[in-house]
Amino acid sequence: TVKSGNRGHYRFFDQEFYARIQLRRETEAELVLALEQDQFVIHYQPRVDARSGTLLGLEALVRWQHPTRGLVYPGDFVPIAEGSGLILQLGAMVMDKVCAQLAQWREEGLHAVPVSVNASARQFNEGSVDDVLAMHVRRHGLPPSLIEIELTESIMLSNAGQVFDQLTALHAMGVSVHLDDFGTGYSSLSILHKLDVDVLKVDRAFTAQLGTGREGQILFKAIISMAKALDMRVVAEGVEDVEQLTLLQQLGCDEVQGYLVSRPLPAAEVRHFLRPGISLLAAATAAE
Ligand code: C2E
Ligand code: MG
Ligand code: MG
Ligand code: MG
Repeated sequence: TVKSGNRGHYRFFDQEFYARIQLRRETEAELVLALEQDQFVIHYQPRVDARSGTLLGLEALVRWQHPTRGLVYPGDFVPIAEGSGLILQLGAMVMDKVCAQLAQWREEGLHAVPVSVNASARQFNEGSVDDVLAMHVRRHGLPPSLIEIELTESIMLSNAGQVFDQLTALHAMGVSVHLDDFGTGYSSLSILHKLDVDVLKVDRAFTAQLGTGREGQILFKAIISMAKALDMRVVAEGVEDVEQLTLLQQLGCDEVQGYLVSRPLPAAEVRHFLRPGISLLAAATAAE
């Protein structure tokens, strides 16, 4: 009957809810061990000039090589690390690995491009992103400008003074600041200006809308003209096909990132991109 059906539903919901909390607790405990045992790897995704296809940078994306679950993506552990404060250690670990990789590529004489590192609000609030970055680049003998910092609009909910101080320090070191997932959260023109953001990374939800009607194009057009007025560059995230790329080129978008150019790859597989004067779009658009 309806009644028992309902009860069954609630019991099922409870169980699912409970299982999720259980998994979260387990993952939290495992993350502590994973940090000790160095179970993380960094994959790198190219960001290119929208017209020439020249490599402008790589984004560092962390993956967890879990002993039984296989390769775990950040969506399944970064929020848990953020909730527990482990994100401070995780963030420092990512910075260290990225700097070590950059130093190695340099030693091999490969073409150097900056690597952007994602930072959570908690790393600004409870840590000091500029100090963590300064320490790691110094340890690996790198110029700080080889690192870029990506932050999201959620940073607005933080202690503003502390965030501004760190952003000022980052800029003083020559580190550029990218606003990630733009358009999904809360931002106003004045805040973007105050944060002194160098690059706007438009969320892939907007890119996905590009081919489906005029709305996506209108939104992009508005974002691009606003960014130009504020002297920021615009990156379209999640570019997956040539149609999207063509529209973005027509709209005057500066840079693109997405599966059309390349998926995020292990360090060994991005090496062949680290040569000057090659277009990563030529191959991608010809292959489609
Ligand atoms: P994000 O910074 O916005 O990174 C872009 C995400 O989109 C990545 O997912 C990337 O693999 C994916 N992506 C790139 N191109 C395409 C495309 O063409 N189509 C589609 N559908 N997806 C694409 P990933 O690696 O799973 O990372 C998810 C999020 O986890 C990142 O979003 C970032 O917010 C967070 N994250 C990753 N690494 C770190 C880290 O080291 N620290 C912190 N705090 N967060 C991180
Ligand atoms: Mg990012
Ligand atoms: Mg400081
Ligand atoms: Mg993003």
